[in-house]
Amino acid sequence: MSDEDQKSDRRKTGTDTKLVTSGRAKKWVSAPGTKGHVVNPPVWRASTHLYDNVAALKAGTARNDDGDFFYGRRGAPTQWALAEALTDLEPGAEGTMLFPSGVAAIHAALLAVLSPGDVLLMTDSAYGPSRGFAEGFLKKWGVETRFFDPLAGADIEQAICDKTRAILLESPGSLTFEVQDVPAICAVAKRRGVTTLLDNTWATPLLFPAIEHGIDITILAGTKYIVGHSDVMLGSVTATAEHYRAIRTTAQTLGHVVSPDDAWLALRGLRTLGVRLRSHESAALEIARWLAERDDVATVLHPALSYCPGHDIWERDFNGSSGLFAFVLKGGPGRRERFIDALNLFGIGYSWGGFESLAIPADPVRTVRKADCADQGSLIRLQIGLENVADLIDDLGAAFKVSG
Ligand SMILES: *Cc1c(COP(=O)(O)O)cnc(C)c1O
Repeated sequence: MSDEDQKSDRRKTGTDTKLVTSGRAKKWVSAPGTKGHVVNPPVWRASTHLYDNVAALKAGTARNDDGDFFYGRRGAPTQWALAEALTDLEPGAEGTMLFPSGVAAIHAALLAVLSPGDVLLMTDSAYGPSRGFAEGFLKKWGVETRFFDPLAGADIEQAICDKTRAILLESPGSLTFEVQDVPAICAVAKRRGVTTLLDNTWATPLLFPAIEHGIDITILAGTKYIVGHSDVMLGSVTATAEHYRAIRTTAQTLGHVVSPDDAWLALRGLRTLGVRLRSHESAALEIARWLAERDDVATVLHPALSYCPGHDIWERDFNGSSGLFAFVLKGGPGRRERFIDALNLFGIGYSWGGFESLAIPADPVRTVRKADCADQGSLIRLQIGLENVADLIDDLGAAFKVSG
């Protein structure tokens, strides 16, 4: 069996079936007093939830269970169905809270775990706004953040002190795609009583079931692959039983809420996540290999390519790759700008994970580990969409000519 066959084999463990069936329990898709039900949970627009009498109102307030009507800020069946579906995708998880963006999800998860006086370890390859939150808000709040080499693995132990409360991982890392040894880091963290959080946006639970690999709290920018159509902002935090209550309390205290329309669109996106990811994967790999052959490309940062930092770990732990990677164009920022401006099929814009291809200039900020590629040229990040690969390659080829 080839490597790629083995990977698609690993992925056949019923996740596509789960994507189709999850979040569609009878209670979410039927109306009381009627026979039959519909396929999709409808959009429940509601701020006020009504009780039969005062006694029921008091009992409901006291219990405040997940999945019971209470008040719009706690969601309604559309949001509960989405949260349940995301929990289903993550074996070992207790529950999921939804957030109005990926950034809101990361920040709330950190606040749920940290207290003033604690030390947070953060991978040096973390998403820019995660760094910004640590260096701004958390610092002001009395939490010290120390960045660590994304390739540290079990050596993370040297960075842990008595005050270390949490480790924020991201694998592969933003912009530079280093793959982290999550199981090794989690094993050390468990032994030392430190909570692990992972930004799993690139892989989703389909390509990397995080809790199975030892993570306590896994975070998605649903804006990207879950929604998949570049039309909704959304975040989620999925946690083990040990951590779920703290996440829930923090999310509710901070007043985070997702609209039922956005939850409905995310559920619609989720149904096709498996087929979309397979298509993003094969197209991105083809383009990454094509780029790697070119003389005007210094290197390609894609976890499935053997020379990407942490590739062996990707090979060991992941069920496949997605559609986001970067490459280093030989030449300076001027050439990079001409190259990107010359593209027609690739949009120029932030975010990723939608059906359309995107390109941006990338300038990673690092504290402890300078990106390996830093001196070889200028970095461009590509999101490969669902267009025909040949058209995308033609577009890139023309941009090499025009900018060269
Ligand atoms: C986009 C992104 C986020 C933030 O998600 P938003 O929904 O845009 O707030 C977090 N982490 C990673 C890795 C991202 O790419």
